[in-house]
Amino acid sequence: MTDTPTQLFIGGAWVDASDGATLPVDDPATGEVLCHVADAGPKDAGLAEEAAVRAQEEWARTAPRVRSEILRRAYEIIIERTDELAHLMTAEMGKPLAEARGEVAYAAEFFRWFSEEAARIDGGFGTLPDGRNRMLLSRRPVGPCLLITPWNFPLAMGTRKIGPAVAAGCTMVLKPAPQTPLSSLALAAILQEAGLPDGVLNVVTTSRAGEVCEPLLRGGRIRKLSFTGSTAVGQLLLAQSAQAVVRTSMELGGNAPFVVFEDADLDKAVDGAMVAKMRNMGEACTAANRFFVHRSVAEEFGRRLAERMGALVVGLGTREGVDVGPLIDRRGRAKVEELVADAVKRGARVLVGGRTPEGPGCFYPPTVLADVDPASRLMDTEIFGPVAAILTFDDEDEVIRRANDTPWGLVGYVFTEGLDRALRVSERLEVGMVGLNTGLVSNPAAPFGGVKQSGLGREGGRVGIDEFLEYQYLAVPVR
Ligand code: NAP
Repeated sequence: MTDTPTQLFIGGAWVDASDGATLPVDDPATGEVLCHVADAGPKDAGLAEEAAVRAQEEWARTAPRVRSEILRRAYEIIIERTDELAHLMTAEMGKPLAEARGEVAYAAEFFRWFSEEAARIDGGFGTLPDGRNRMLLSRRPVGPCLLITPWNFPLAMGTRKIGPAVAAGCTMVLKPAPQTPLSSLALAAILQEAGLPDGVLNVVTTSRAGEVCEPLLRGGRIRKLSFTGSTAVGQLLLAQSAQAVVRTSMELGGNAPFVVFEDADLDKAVDGAMVAKMRNMGEACTAANRFFVHRSVAEEFGRRLAERMGALVVGLGTREGVDVGPLIDRRGRAKVEELVADAVKRGARVLVGGRTPEGPGCFYPPTVLADVDPASRLMDTEIFGPVAAILTFDDEDEVIRRANDTPWGLVGYVFTEGLDRALRVSERLEVGMVGLNTGLVSNPAAPFGGVKQSGLGREGGRVGIDEFLEYQYLAVPVR
């Protein structure tokens, strides 16, 4: 921690905020202040934008192989420093060390994946149908980008955007969440060490997100916004991006249905539920939010899930053997408490958990609720905590209708042993991703993203780099 940068990273230099302001970074397990980082204002953001704009032309001309090798070196450094980065993430975000190590590997993998993609950006050549013209297609970086990331995956949300931007030849201003700035600053230091030229990546940590980002989006020099966060903030940023017609990628909120049919293998379903619900303490956009379980197996599923959830060890993320760390802050925990209280008031049975522990830190116990009333608030709110809400259903059409009855469409989970049903139901779910008999879909080699109000565009996979590239078409007459 002592070597982790705490200043802004602008034009390859570590600098204080121009007015000297700082913001505290809290440990959610204890509520204590870990350290202070620079708190950028609009002037600093302008300097970061200037650095990105200045670096763009030369960076775009850099050989793809050079960009590829920078990412590859950064990947290797991240893997070498897994333990150090995991401790940093646990300190600022609270997730248990084992999960933090898992995130470091996941985050690094985006750099390895996009180091491979950097060398595969292709174009096209052909004769147009009239036979009088040739068409040359090339792909060019979209230009300077603004990247805005949330606190729940402090390292991976950064690499998922920086990886393709570097590979495509774009320069960037990254604004991480104020709760978890340290992982992003450590990442910038690693990229610098890996040889990323000055100005290609700039990092502004700030407590004044709106004041800092809006002028960049409206100013006309930032050509691309890649945002991960809540749907409400995404909608605001889309409106701000409209003025200068900034290209946008939006990874927004979710409200994932987790459907268990009567022919499901319940061992697989409970294993899947543990991952889909408990990864990152439930603080994931992919978290199963609504468990629809066929009436004939609901009691058994609830019993087994409650047993597994109740056996999880809650505590300080830094302690080995702990499964569930604190939630991000008191506001996040209060929201979970309110949603559970509302469901219980409407008749939900608490199978396990449901009671906030005494003492410091933002801990909340793994909780399973059965017989949840569909009118409960947690049905149309991202719980973002370790609470599984179980409802029952009777037939396939009904459950598909209820699963789709939400403005979100990021991911759905389907558990059945019938292949026809698995494919039929998956095809009818209005989501960007489906976990079939699995609770984990995230993978750097797969296109991640949602439909409806869960977002626009995809991150990762073969298409992840497309978000940072534009086509240029050259018409060349045949003479
Ligand atoms: P959030 O409140 O929307 O914040 C996300 C980021 O946007 C933070 O850096 C935040 O900074 C910034 N921000 C907020 N208002 C802004 C503004 N007016 N202008 C510019 N930036 C602004 O979301 P969160 O609570 O951090 O993260 C949880 C949300 O992210 C959940 O909805 C979750 O589903 C979603 N998420 C989605 C994905 C995905 O891939 N689909 C992945 C992870 C998380 P401040 O905190 O300073 O406002």
